[in-house]
Formats: sequence, structure tokens, C-alpha cells
Amino acid sequence: MKKIVAKFGGTSLADAEHFRRIKDIITADPDRRYIVASAPGKRFPEDIKVTDMLISCYEKAANNEPFAPLLNEIKQRFQDIVDGLELDFPLEPEFKILHDHLSDSPELDYMASRGEYLNSRILADYLGFHFVDPEWCVSFHASGDFDEPLTKRTLGAALRPLNHAVIAGFYGADSNGKIHTFSRGGSDVTGSLAACAVDADLYENWTDVSGLLAADPRIVPSPKSVEYLSYRELRTLSYMGASVLHTDAVLPASEKGIPINIRNTDRPEDHGTMIVRRLPKGEPHYPVTGVAGRLGMTVIQVEKVMVSDGSGFSAVMLDILKNRNLPFEQCLTGIDTITLVIRSDLLADCKEDLLSEIRSVLKPDFLGIKENLSMIAVVGEKSTESSDANIQVLYALKKANIEISTINQGAGKLNLLIGVPEDRYEEAVNVIYSTIDQ
Ligand code: ASP
Repeated sequence: MKKIVAKFGGTSLADAEHFRRIKDIITADPDRRYIVASAPGKRFPEDIKVTDMLISCYEKAANNEPFAPLLNEIKQRFQDIVDGLELDFPLEPEFKILHDHLSDSPELDYMASRGEYLNSRILADYLGFHFVDPEWCVSFHASGDFDEPLTKRTLGAALRPLNHAVIAGFYGADSNGKIHTFSRGGSDVTGSLAACAVDADLYENWTDVSGLLAADPRIVPSPKSVEYLSYRELRTLSYMGASVLHTDAVLPASEKGIPINIRNTDRPEDHGTMIVRRLPKGEPHYPVTGVAGRLGMTVIQVEKVMVSDGSGFSAVMLDILKNRNLPFEQCLTGIDTITLVIRSDLLADCKEDLLSEIRSVLKPDFLGIKENLSMIAVVGEKSTESSDANIQVLYALKKANIEISTINQGAGKLNLLIGVPEDRYEEAVNVIYSTIDQ
């Protein structure tokens, strides 16, 4: 029998109607045996996620403000789900525990985690599956850092003996039993860890979109959704701002080559996006997989005759950044130049200082700085192998009269990174997208 880990996000578990829908999805494939649940999300656009309500409740308690009315609202959210599913799930004692906790010495992570805890217990009840509390099998250090090696052992040991289980996403605990959470959206990470722990054949991530879109829909009207994507492509697109999966959720599944399938709970008939180690053989459907970008970049250009003569000029330049704990996005070197792309917000307090250090240490022939740039990643493992797609993209930008500040493509040819002025960013993304979707 195959094993599928299916993670359902907040909107997929926002109300009783969605619980019913996901029960249909789960029972439609008996291989869907391990279910990871988020806290109830938004039921309509102006709604508030239960996790946000729990965090507000914590803040009120921590500031000695009245928290009981808000705690009651949260209870009502769960009560509506329980009643809508006609379950006999006792919420009173659970909320008494929360009330006592808030009245005593409230903890942020504990409160933030309770949405996942309660929703998963209700879902387990509704499905007739075992409930697995990550408090016992997702491990954190006392510092709050995630303990991956220990979790890999304990999570497998907790899940494997069970045929069917619901595990709460987003949190775990340290050896003293103190609850810690991943960063927001972290149930995706729990799902990937669970898939890795049970050696799943597939990790399904059910959300409210039919997969990853090839471009940001706030910039490009109705972009296509991507059918196949490699783990490497996904990491680049997520890093550049495309959001469909928590960035840390790729690694655990990818270590074992477990495919990740992004699916839409409201449209289960859609195949969604399949994220795999190697793309299927044959011609890619589209010349480029996707385009994403980031605003707020600065380019520093250092020129000196014979930069690349082996005297360690580039190493000294990078040491200057390292000693200042200043990460860079890209470093391009030419015969006589080094070009660095750095996030502008990181330079806000140290720009002049950094430039004068470069001047005094490296004594460059020319030192230039360009601000207000954006970086666009044109991602396509297969297509950027051939130069045709690159030529099309660059030619389209030229035709639109968009100045290109930097171009970067490593030998890995995973993506083409292009720097353009911030005020032409959206136009550039549209121009590039038009070369994808032909
Ligand atoms: N409920 C948490 C959040 O809203 C975690 C998650 O949904 O993955 O961030």
C-alpha cells in the first residue's frame, strides 16, 4: 500500500463545510493515510485567521488587558465547526486550560500553536484517525531552534506504527515540554517532515490555489499555473518572492526525492503543480517555467585593472562584506570588475562606511553605486539550457526600452537573473511573462 501525506492549509480547514470537503478528498484515495492540519484560516477575505486571534489573545494577556471576550470568539469558531459536523467534542475543558494559561504566565508559541492542536484533534475525531501531538515527536532545542536529527527519528517512530493519523502542523516542543513553533505558514514544514519520516510516495499540499502560478497575479493578469517544477526551481522562485509553500518545506521531502503536489481543495479535479527532483523527459511545455522578482536592490561596482590576476582582489572584497556580516545576493566578476548586488535595506545604515572601506582597502580605479533596482529571476531548468529563451527575454526587454543593469546566469543554468530599474519592474515582469506564455 502506498503512503500519501496530505497537508491541509488554513482555508481548507476554515469551517465545517471545508472539513466535509476534505473528508471526501481523503476517502477518495485510501493511500492518503497521514494528514497534517493547520489552524482554521479565513472563511472570507476580511475574516481573521485563528492563529492571529490566538496571538492577539496572548498579547492582551501579556499586557494585562482583558482577553476573555476574544478567547470566547475563538471558542465560537471551533464550536461552529464541531456543531456543523455534529461531533461530540468537548471544547469547554480545552478553553478552561487556555484561560488558566493566559491568566498565569502566558507564552506566545504555546498560544499560537493551539489552533493547530484543536483543529487536528477535531479532524482526527471526524475522520476516525489517531491524533498525533507534535509535542511528543517534533523536537526543538530550548533556544527555539528546530532539532531536525532528533525529529527525524521520533516522528518516524510515532507515525509508522499507525495506519492512519492526523498530526498537528506548525509546532513541536523542547525536552522540557515547552512548545515552540516554526515561522508562520510552518505546517508545510511539518508536512514535509512527516512525508520524509514515513518514506511517503507523495506529499500533497492542499491549499486554495491550483498550484504555483508562473508569475505574480497581482502583476500579470491570469498567469498560467505550472504543471511541473523541480525542487531547485521552486527554491529559486520562492526565494524571489513566489509564495505557495514555506521555503523550509522543500528540503525534507527533496532529501528523499518525494514529489510534492500542490492541490486546490476547492477544485480537487485540478492536477495542480507537481514538484519533483527531475523534470519529466521531453520538450518542456513552455520555454520558461516561471518569473518572480524582488524590489529594493543596490548594485555596487568596483573596477580595477587586472582584478582577476590572482592577487585575491575578489577575496578581499568578499572579506569586507563577511566582516560586516553583510550578505550579498549576487557577485559577478569580469576581467577588471566586481559587481555586487546587495539588498538596499541592509545598506541603509552602513552604505557610506562600506564605500569608504572599499576605497581605502582596495583602492579601485572606479567605484560606482546604483540604487532602486529590482532583480527578476527567469526560472526554467530545461529551457534556459538553450540560449533561445534567454535571447527572447532579453530582446523583449530591449524592445520595451527597459534598461538592463545586470545579467547573471551561472553554469548551472537554472535561471537567468536580470537587474532592471525598480520603476520598470512590473512592466518588465509582464514583458518577460509574455515570452513565456506564447
Ligand atoms: N497557522 C499557522 C499560520 O497561520 C501555521 C500554518 O498555517 O501553517 O501561520
